[in-house]
Amino acid sequence: MNKENEGKRIWGNLLAWLRQTEASPTLEAYLTGTTGLGRSGAQLTVEVPNAFVREKLTREYGTRIQAGLTALDLDVREIVYEVHEGPTAPRKAEISEPATAVIPGNTGSGASSEVPAGSPGHSSNLNPEYTMASFIVGKSNAYPHALARSVSLSPGKNYNPLYFYGGVGLGKTHLMQAIGHEILKAHPKARVLYVSSEVFHNEYIDYIQNKKPWDRFRKKYRDVDCLLLDDVQFFESGERIQEEFFHTFNALHQARKQIVLTSDKQPHQLQKVEERLRSRFASGVVADLIPPDLEMRIAILKSRAVEEAVAIPDEVIRYIAERVSSNIRELRAVFRTVVAKASVLGLPLSVALVDETLRTTTGPQKPHEISIGMIQEEVCHQFELRQEDLIGRRRQRRVVIPRQIAMYLCRELASRTLMEIGEAFGKKDHTTVLHSCTKVEENLKTDPSLNETVERLRIRIREKLG
Ligand code: ADP
Ligand code: MG
Repeated sequence: MNKENEGKRIWGNLLAWLRQTEASPTLEAYLTGTTGLGRSGAQLTVEVPNAFVREKLTREYGTRIQAGLTALDLDVREIVYEVHEGPTAPRKAEISEPATAVIPGNTGSGASSEVPAGSPGHSSNLNPEYTMASFIVGKSNAYPHALARSVSLSPGKNYNPLYFYGGVGLGKTHLMQAIGHEILKAHPKARVLYVSSEVFHNEYIDYIQNKKPWDRFRKKYRDVDCLLLDDVQFFESGERIQEEFFHTFNALHQARKQIVLTSDKQPHQLQKVEERLRSRFASGVVADLIPPDLEMRIAILKSRAVEEAVAIPDEVIRYIAERVSSNIRELRAVFRTVVAKASVLGLPLSVALVDETLRTTTGPQKPHEISIGMIQEEVCHQFELRQEDLIGRRRQRRVVIPRQIAMYLCRELASRTLMEIGEAFGKKDHTTVLHSCTKVEENLKTDPSLNETVERLRIRIREKLG
């Protein structure tokens, strides 16, 4: 195997492992559009679409990625992330050059492009694998698929916005990106932009906090022909981002630019999203993706086998499809793990190997209860702190505020006693815990940005539950 293919394979295996052990939309957003470029000794080079993703993968997911490398015994000690963005990456985005919009039927203004070549504004962020051709159609997704095709043929016309909802791993992101690919195929100069709501939110905060030129942000999201915004349930965590997106939405909609949205809920179920936005989400067409039946699961695995040129007996395919029924992401992950295992260990692809894989490598089961540890971990992620600082005794604001928030959340989400919480935060007195909780409660009444942070943490922590 040459170096390039090997890089691709290693990164592919690692992605499968990551998706299997933690299938969160947040992580998926960062993984989308990454590619293994090559391996040199114990070093793996991975291409990422932008610096933001590099930062996230290195900092937030570094430990988990390391755990995957070890678990799969991939003999990689270091990963180097190379940023590759903009029109010089045609292989990823299939765009020939940045230019003006040419989608017929689009009469809106703002079609000219002044963003310098190579700026992130022109990277569509599409995963090259998420195409219409690789999307298997069955009973469970025939309707959303038909809508997606129709929108690809005449973007901005009939179904705007197009809103897909459904559980995790059922193909929302894939189908939404397939629309982007189709539009680009028909109109190579169209500006298509895929972004997860979380990345959109983080970028917005980054612009505000670092006082970056605001018109650049607006331009990036409003000067597009098609905006693919993934996982809008994430907007439940903030009011200001809803306000900002409300204006983005209106600008695009008025200019008859296509908007595609996905979520794990129907628009009206997004309770913490303001009504005017919910009603806009529902104002085009709404379709749901449901779990695939057995026939479709078999079809998906067969197509993977062809795609990856793996000779796998039908009975093994059927066996995997029967046992993994919840979602397509998991189905594919199990398939990949079984194939990787067979190849690494030199074993035949058999039912026994599937059994063993399901028993040993489906990763840690998601917990059913929120623990103090889960809350501490998420708060550390959020504030980029080490666990020892969070539970330590230092009194700097940088650590005190997160510590108080973590204690407050332990009370609320883990329903622990003050004593138990104190114990888990470096043996602190229960009055300290009480003081922290009261303090956060008080501040929540007046500080909207604290509200956003806390709500965001709640969502992330709940996501960890099985
Ligand atoms: P969601 O966004 O709903 O969580 P994804 O779109 O990320 O799900 O899909 C999870 C995985 O399953 C991806 O690897 C995707 O390519 C694959 N997948 C989902 N639906 C299909 C399908 N109908 N045909 C082929 N692959 C699919
Ligand atoms: Mg998704």
